[in-house]
Amino acid sequence: MKKLVIIGGGIAGLTAGIFAQKNGFESIILEKHHTLGGECTGWDRQGYHIDGCIHWLVGTKKGTPIHDLWTTVGAMDGVEVYDPESFMAFEHGDVTVHFYRDLERLKTSWFEMSPADKGAIDQFCQTIKQLHSFEIPVGKPMDMMNPIEKIKFMLSMKDAGLVMQKYGKISLIEYAKTFKHPALQAALASFLPEGYSASSVFFGLASFTKGQASIPVGGSKAMAMRMVERYLSLGGTIEASSEVVKLIIEGKNVQGVVCKNGASYAADYFIAACDAHLLYEQLLEGKFSDPAFQLRYNNPVDYPLASNMYISLGYAGSMDGIPRSLRFPVNSLQINKVSIEHLQITHYGYEPDFAPAGHTVMTCAINQFYSDYDAWKTLASDSKAYNQEKARIGQAVQCAMETRFPQMRDKLKVLDVASPITYERYCNAYRGAFMAFLPTIRGKEVAHTGRIRGLHNIFLSGQWLQPPGGLPVALITGKDTIARLCKLEKRPFVSH
Ligand SMILES: Cc1cc2nc3c(=O)[nH]c(=O)nc-3n(C[C@H](O)[C@H](O)[C@H](O)COP(=O)(O)OP(=O)(O)OC[C@H]3O[C@@H](n4cnc5c(N)ncnc54)[C@H](O)[C@@H]3O)c2cc1C
Repeated sequence: MKKLVIIGGGIAGLTAGIFAQKNGFESIILEKHHTLGGECTGWDRQGYHIDGCIHWLVGTKKGTPIHDLWTTVGAMDGVEVYDPESFMAFEHGDVTVHFYRDLERLKTSWFEMSPADKGAIDQFCQTIKQLHSFEIPVGKPMDMMNPIEKIKFMLSMKDAGLVMQKYGKISLIEYAKTFKHPALQAALASFLPEGYSASSVFFGLASFTKGQASIPVGGSKAMAMRMVERYLSLGGTIEASSEVVKLIIEGKNVQGVVCKNGASYAADYFIAACDAHLLYEQLLEGKFSDPAFQLRYNNPVDYPLASNMYISLGYAGSMDGIPRSLRFPVNSLQINKVSIEHLQITHYGYEPDFAPAGHTVMTCAINQFYSDYDAWKTLASDSKAYNQEKARIGQAVQCAMETRFPQMRDKLKVLDVASPITYERYCNAYRGAFMAFLPTIRGKEVAHTGRIRGLHNIFLSGQWLQPPGGLPVALITGKDTIARLCKLEKRPFVSH
């Protein structure tokens, strides 16, 4: 049996492990953290459970290829799904823009708000509908297809291609200006982090409105743990608290890895299901760099990364009647000299086990960009100042919530504040990134095979291979890496 070492036990590493076991490899996952799941995780604070990831999971619709794939890895096997009524509600002055799941309802509510935008709204909804035929491809990766399969694949992507052609080169902010009503403009402009192209809003809402992007009940940590169980049940081995710090390379092959705790592991193949920058710059010491990644790391304007401040609050009360995800304007909140104009909260009122009886947990994600990371990195060298700043931001978010919802006064408490440095510390995430490079209008989106130039038996896998990353990309690339390994070994790939 060929031995395989997988560096990293996030969704990509776990998926690779599961398919490795199904395909006759003897695999071991080495994970830096004491728990698995990577960025798909959750943690407990003061009697509350904080979900650290899934706001929407592409693959919740039964009978679709991506749902089948999630089921194969144990993530969605018999799991109940929570379908929020709206993707997000956006408050602007005295109106609220709802991104309803029911597209007709969305359309009617937007018409009522702004009859003058009828044409733009019609076009918006029509484009979303056009993408209902699109399913994220989970079959063979392009590099393994024969010419006929490639043609069939391209034809199946026709609608997606048309939308990309039309909206892939317009920024979301520019696109928002095609609407007249200021609330619709503002809602669209702030739908996704700054820098995204307009196409992203259509793909996101198409998935959501056709029931393909909901939330598995139990949340992120529970989902990752189901995958851990599946992997172990297939005979896989896990070593947690095992950070790989060195690769032993001889000629064109990696012979083994060395962990920070002193343990070392030899194998026939290696998969780096961890951060790409960490692999190229630290583990491979910059000796096997890849032009596609270099181009992106050297051009953060066209290939931006986003990290988060992730603030969690406990509320001694119920959020009944408040949309699951709400974005509202705030005054005078500054982070790294940047004025934050809106806060977006997500509450977990539908998860009774996430909070003590009668209480609700909520999270607030504030995107952080290039210069923010640098400011946090500098601040983190002084742990007192760093913790004080995190506490200040937590208090400011609590205060903003109390201002928006006076009934919450004296019933809120800050549970936790994570910064870009937190993601870097726990997951080795480059600049604290929570996904891969954002799809901007000037950046080129190309899928990468994960092969490392100059080395035969090590592959990169995970969200960095297909911008903008996210859970489905981690899943698909984890599977694809094993399919490529099977091809190298000249054996058929078992995909179920
Ligand atoms: C706040 C937040 C919200 C998100 N919301 C969504 C969402 O709603 N929908 C969605 O699709 N995606 C979402 N994402 C993104 C999603 O979590 C990631 O895209 C996905 O989890 C990436 O999986 P991965 O396996 O590729 O990488 P990672 O999760 O980064 O896993 C890499 C693993 O490797 C480990 N590791 C790193 N270095 C080493 C080393 N040297 N040795 C051993 N182990 C190592 C890390 O600890 C980690 O466990 C969100 C992310 C965050 C942070």
